[in-house]
Amino acid sequence: MSAKIGIIGAGNMGKGLTLLFAMRGFPVTLYTRDLAKEPAIREAISGNIKLLSENEVISAETAEAIPARISFTDSYEVIAAQADLIIENVVEDLGIKRALFAELDRLAKPDVILSSNTSAISITEIGQDCVNHRERVIGTHFWNPPYLVPLVEVIETPYSSPDAIARATQIMEEAKKVPVLCHKDVPGFVANRLQHALQREALNIVARGIASPEDVDKSIKYGFGMRLGICPPLEVVDMGGTDLTLSIHEYLFPDLYNEPEPVPILKEMVARGDLGFKSGKGVRAWTEDEIRASRENLTKGLIAVLRALDRL
Ligand code: NAD
Repeated sequence: MSAKIGIIGAGNMGKGLTLLFAMRGFPVTLYTRDLAKEPAIREAISGNIKLLSENEVISAETAEAIPARISFTDSYEVIAAQADLIIENVVEDLGIKRALFAELDRLAKPDVILSSNTSAISITEIGQDCVNHRERVIGTHFWNPPYLVPLVEVIETPYSSPDAIARATQIMEEAKKVPVLCHKDVPGFVANRLQHALQREALNIVARGIASPEDVDKSIKYGFGMRLGICPPLEVVDMGGTDLTLSIHEYLFPDLYNEPEPVPILKEMVARGDLGFKSGKGVRAWTEDEIRASRENLTKGLIAVLRALDRL
């Protein structure tokens, strides 16, 4: 029988995870502070069910079955009693998450796994006040939209039990996710360390006038970025040879951005109010049409890549 999933927080990620697990056949209880929002939340989820169905990511039968697999509650007692795995998706605030985990630790049976989908906060600190069973506190970091991006980072704290990690990993595999184990609770876990290291140098290249923002993005989109999903970085190290990689690193690294502070142009953009899509200008200017096209392109592109990789 499928594990029962509890989702806390009905924002962007909470709704996305509810759809992910429900479309993979799991019963899901979604906690929202305001039950009056249930119709609006269901409508938002239905919009994405339609999108997935129209693009043949899920069958018509699955699309029809999903809503009945989702129930709502505004009670932590109910979610603690119903779920085998609870995934927290509330606002990114340590105090709120820490208090919530302490409450769940008090309410849930010892074998209920308590997991946070925080993007950046230490899982160890989130679980700090779980005085009863801190060993069942872990991280599960998903990528947006979680019903399309396969990766989930499963994060251990120094207290996490192998059993909690193993059971959560198995649930992720059953949900057709690709779990990656992060053995240390470090900032950025695995994938955001890699993503932001790349963004740092991309901004540095623009700041130094080496290439325009458009050309920096093209050099990834039409160059090594195309290869990344097929032949990822450490495979490339071995393909090229560790000796070749070493000599490139010795020559190149002294010229890369290596300050502990963000690249100054990023701070300048924020100070000017150039906030990207939010203001129509960031690293470069964006029209409304370009912003809409970028968002649509992301969903359609992800579906096309998943189809090509046979991962739908
Ligand atoms: P969001 O603002 O869309 O949703 C947050 C939800 O939490 C809202 O519905 C809000 O009403 C609810 N909430 C706030 N305080 C609460 C409380 N005390 N109890 C219960 N619910 C509460 O944010 P989001 O993008 O869904 O992010 C949620 C979490 O997921 C954050 O920790 C974020 O870092 C993480 N995350 C986000 C992404 C992403 O791409 N958006 C990806 C991975 C992880």
